[in-house]
Amino acid sequence: MKTALAFAFVFFFLRGAAAGEIEISGDFVQGGLVIGQAPQASEVLLDGKRVALRPGGRFLIGFDHDAPPSARLSVVFADGKHEDRILAIAQRDYDVQRIDGLPQNQVTPNADELARIDRERQLVANARAVDSPAAMFDAGFIWPAAGPISGVYGSRRVLNGAPRQPHFGVDVAAPEGAPVVAPAPGIVRLAAADLFYTGGTVILDHGYGLSSTFMHMSAVEVEVGDELAQGDPIGRVGATGRVTGPHLDWRMNLFEIRLDPALLLDGPPPAAQ
Ligand SMILES: [Zn+2]
Repeated sequence: MKTALAFAFVFFFLRGAAAGEIEISGDFVQGGLVIGQAPQASEVLLDGKRVALRPGGRFLIGFDHDAPPSARLSVVFADGKHEDRILAIAQRDYDVQRIDGLPQNQVTPNADELARIDRERQLVANARAVDSPAAMFDAGFIWPAAGPISGVYGSRRVLNGAPRQPHFGVDVAAPEGAPVVAPAPGIVRLAAADLFYTGGTVILDHGYGLSSTFMHMSAVEVEVGDELAQGDPIGRVGATGRVTGPHLDWRMNLFEIRLDPALLLDGPPPAAQ
């Protein structure tokens, strides 16, 4: 009797003081996004790096394509208590994708092109660094284009025979001119007609550092500062930048962490009309 009571007390204490105060859900996998809430938290760290705390103690964490098998989530509560959790992150096997026949200057750019690439990389980095206070992503996500998937997140690329950075987007093989729409509400942070690698490019800020990037578009139909609802037009599918044919390349970032957009959706994109 006494033992049972003690056990019940310990059980209650653990649930009340520790486990009950942190909720986390999402995709615990490379490229995955996890949403957490710890209402009484004063600080949250992932592997020792501070994570922004939002109203109500919400926070977002993301796992990059090469995230190790585990991460340590540390939560410090306002009353000084502290809890650590080890998160298991599923490891993925990535395909190797060979693309031949690209113009050689796009595989090994010259000095002028390298300077341009640097400037454009900075514009993209600035757009992805915007930290908006509205959780626009809470509306959920729809596919921004219709058509079959022709390229997946994380695949390692060999361009004209030379190994390059992995591919961090999901490619939808929609035809030239097909509509691209906002997958979730957001604010346009970059709208560029023709970047060197990515052609017609738009970055849409969904709040809390979560952003979408749309690439290779033949037309950009929004301007920086535009506030879009889910399903609003962004532009048109194209073959601008470094591509071999028309498609939409959709990327998701949590600040600089590259996420897999496909994980945010329940199934493949709808078939083209
Ligand atoms: Zn792509």
